[in-house]
Parts: sequence; C-alpha cells; structure tokens
Amino acid sequence: MSEPSASLSDLVVERVDFGIFVLDREMNVLMWNRFMHDHSGLSAKQVVGKSIFASFPELPRVWLTRKLESVFQLGSFAFSSWEQRPYLFKFDHDRPITGGVDFMQQDCTFMPLTREREVVAVCVTISDVTAVSIVQREREEAVAKLQEYADRDGLTGIANRRYFESRLRDEYARWQRYGGDLSVLLFDLDHFKKINDRFGHVVGDTVLRVMAQRVAEVVRVQDTFGRFGGEEFALLLPCTPLEDAMLVAEKIRCKIGDTAIDVQGTLVPVTASVGGACARTGVPAYEVLINEADAALYSAKRQGRNRSVAFN
Ligand code: GH3
Ligand code: MG
Ligand code: MG
Repeated sequence: MSEPSASLSDLVVERVDFGIFVLDREMNVLMWNRFMHDHSGLSAKQVVGKSIFASFPELPRVWLTRKLESVFQLGSFAFSSWEQRPYLFKFDHDRPITGGVDFMQQDCTFMPLTREREVVAVCVTISDVTAVSIVQREREEAVAKLQEYADRDGLTGIANRRYFESRLRDEYARWQRYGGDLSVLLFDLDHFKKINDRFGHVVGDTVLRVMAQRVAEVVRVQDTFGRFGGEEFALLLPCTPLEDAMLVAEKIRCKIGDTAIDVQGTLVPVTASVGGACARTGVPAYEVLINEADAALYSAKRQGRNRSVAFN
C-alpha cells in the first residue's frame, strides 16, 4: 500500500507505464515518477531539486534546452519521435537482443504547465516504443530486401531485364528533356548452345555467372549492367557517345574472350558479340534504341561473331 496521504493523481503518475517528469526553466527537476526511477536507477529523491544535466550529463544538452525553451516561450506542446531521435535517455530495453536496437526507443512529449497564462514548468513524458520501432525497422529491411531481389537476376546477381528497362526508360526521358549522350550495348554469347551441349547446363550456368561477374567488375557505377535474356546482356551508358560506347564494348568483349572460364578445372572458352546504338533525333522511343542495338548485334553475328558492331 502507498502512503495514505498520496492523492489519486499521485498514484496514477506512479503506476503508469511511461516516464513522467517535470522541469522548470532552469532545467531543474521538480517531479520524477516511478517509471523514470525504475529505468534510470535514480530515485525522485536523488534527482528532484537538481539540474537534469547534473544527474544525466549524457543528455543532448543543446537539443533538450532548445526544445524546452520553445515550450516555455510558445506555450504549446512539442514532440519528438524515435524516428527523429531514437532515445532521449539511455535506458535498457526489455527485448531479447535485437540487431540494431541498442537502447529503449522513445517517443517524447513536452507539455507546458501553465499558471495564469504563464508557463511555469514543462512536463515531459517518455514512452517506450521499442517494440513498434523493431517491427517498423524489420518491415523496412524486408521491403528493402524484396526491392533488391525484385531488381536482380537470380542466376547472376546483376540487374534483371525489368530493372534494366526501367533505368533505360528514365535515362531516355532525361535525354529527351536535356539532350547529351546516351548509348546502349547488347551482348550475346557466341554459340552458347554448343557450350551447353558440350559441357552441360550446370557448367553453362556457371559460365554465365562468372562472365557476368567479370563484366560487372569493369562497369562504372553510373552504368547499368543487366541480364536481358538467357545468354544476352545489356549495358546502359548514360552521358556516353556511341564512339566511346564502342570502346567500352571492345573492352568488355576482350574481357570475356581473352581468358577461358575455369569451371572446376574445365576450361571453357567463351566469346561474345556486341551491338551498340545511341539516342539521337529520330529515335522516338527507348524500345527503338534496343531494337537498333539488337540489329547491330545481329550484324556482328553475321560478320563472324566475337566482334562489336555499331548501329548506323
Ligand atoms: P549465337 O552465337 O548465334 O548466339 O548462338 P547461340 O547458340 O548462343 O544462340 P541461341 O540463341 O540459339 O542459343 C542460346 C542458348 O543459350 C540456348 C540455351 O541453351 C542457352 N541458355 C539460355 N539461357 C540459359 C541459362 O540460363 N543457362 C544455360 N546454361 N544456358 C542458357
Ligand atoms: Mg541469344
Ligand atoms: Mg548466343
């Protein structure tokens, strides 16, 4: 039982499952409830009558002072959510060890206490929102992961066709509006069917994977390298004229063809043919750009494979 003199409101303040404390203009603590005691380890007796910073020197002094000042001056509520500032007090949380969440996540409310229109003190409440924040973080991570998988090709890990085309669509729209240069390369491995027939599909898959890795290593970050179909790949080169794109094409073609791919001791020689095209007036849509690169690729195949051809 509590002391008989305790008022009902005192009992409530002591029992609620969130922190309540009151600060005056000098940041001295006027009141400190049980929740604050339990989580900080400091009782009301220890903190009341002293500056909050004397008991908790690690508090964000500038931020908290500014927040309190605004409540004193404007006389209106202020808030802070865990999403802006994960916590005010370094309290432990009662969750099992959870990646990323080190301390109790807190939402804070700053409530002006007024007497005759003057703010005489500010009541601060601290809510434990650790559980909510964990769920939210997990959801965000899951969405990011799904997004990542949705954009990637399962076999090679590089961009898939859908993502490649969405990047191309964006870059094409940018080119239409601002001009500049934009090129696309299409790669197709030569006689890949024969590789499958000779070494088997599993080896074929490994060849595709290693080849994609090799090329991905030499591609610039601003370019997008994607798997366009079975053994067809595409490279989007923003801000690159066709002439330069064809130099990139040659570099990649050599990167693919120069060293046979070692699949568990079996050396598999692979070559690729490349077709390139660039955005220019008269190319009405990005799909046409792809078709032109494809036509150039077809021409490279007809000319004997293992070469790069630009659309003209
Ligand atoms: P070309 O030089 O004219 O391109 O000859 P090609 O044999 O490469 O051309 P074609 O398009 O006729 O055949 C492509 C082959 O690629 C067919 C298929 O067996 C193989 N292929 C497509 N996707 C995959 C894949 O994911 N894994 C494996 N192992 N093979 C694939
Ligand atoms: Mg093909
Ligand atoms: Mg092929």
